[in-house]
Amino acid sequence: MSRFWSPLVHGLTPYVAGEQPAMTGLIKLNTNESPYGPSPLAIEAMRAAVDDRLRLYPDPTARALRAEIAGQNGLDASQVFVGNGSDEVLAFVFQALLNHDAPLLFPDVTYSFYPVWCRLYGIDYRDVPLDGAMRIRVEDYRQACGAIILANPNAPTGIALPLADIETLLRDHPDQVVVIDEAYVDFGADSAIPLIARYPNLLVVQTFSKSRGLAGLRVGFALGQPPLIEALERVKDSFNSYPLDRITLAGALASYQDRAWFEACCGKVMASRERLSNALRDLGFTILPSSANFIFVTHAHHEAARLLQALRDRAILVRRFASTRTENYLRITIGSDEECDQLVAALRDLLN
Ligand SMILES: *Cc1c(COP(=O)(O)O)cnc(C)c1O
Repeated sequence: MSRFWSPLVHGLTPYVAGEQPAMTGLIKLNTNESPYGPSPLAIEAMRAAVDDRLRLYPDPTARALRAEIAGQNGLDASQVFVGNGSDEVLAFVFQALLNHDAPLLFPDVTYSFYPVWCRLYGIDYRDVPLDGAMRIRVEDYRQACGAIILANPNAPTGIALPLADIETLLRDHPDQVVVIDEAYVDFGADSAIPLIARYPNLLVVQTFSKSRGLAGLRVGFALGQPPLIEALERVKDSFNSYPLDRITLAGALASYQDRAWFEACCGKVMASRERLSNALRDLGFTILPSSANFIFVTHAHHEAARLLQALRDRAILVRRFASTRTENYLRITIGSDEECDQLVAALRDLLN
């Protein structure tokens, strides 16, 4: 606390990101990073971008990257907004599109950054409980609201919502923006992108951090009809004209172009997810059906908090969220098969 702070700052409760310890040799299954890293072509493109041109500002409109993303998704560049990680894109979305007289709706168990942005921007929100199986029921959203945001697949449950349900939501709320945060969609869920042409109220947000192995580069994007994109551009150009630097623009473009690397990495993660799920089931864990690059697991006879600490003592990091409904679950990122095997061995040992 300081007398120098703006009044707003006193009331903020910032988001707490998963730990990024300086220690080496850890098995890091706590922040949903890729075990495989970015496309080698992206690394090459970034190396080639490091030269005298860095004295020049980057393209403030990120034209080439937006055109590539648009092209691969059957959209026009005017339907694409890019930013410094999808967290920044989402921050713009909250400010530009989700602040209305009626409350914003999102699930009681979801990405814990959503309520943080609500407090930052003074947005009234209401959380809608997931059902007993930790699933989103779109009927529960049939209530007066200013807008809706859902992560699909949801985090940290990993459970995907069928496209038909998203379409129901869009039809139920023709006068409200419905944001689908697709941070994990590439690991087996259906993207809502094909619905953009028919629904002016739909905004889809994706990231390079998970399925493209580029969490360290900070690139995210939003897709929707031009009026929604224009709102985001207006906020961005009132905040920072150059959220993506020259190196990032080069790397992100090459990454998005390399479909073969992207598909191979997603395929490997999905195969490892099934393998790890089976191994943990054999140890007595209950595992929610995941379409993401993590699994959400609980054990009837072993407390999650204790397991997390015991794994930590063995240099294996996983994550736990301390709310009532989630406190006895662990969220485990899908690592390489080797990392998953070490996790299983440690758990087998701990459970005996
Ligand atoms: C990881 C994550 C993000 C943020 O991703 P960045 O692009 O790295 O900022 C957004 N939404 C959800 C649900 C996530 O899990």
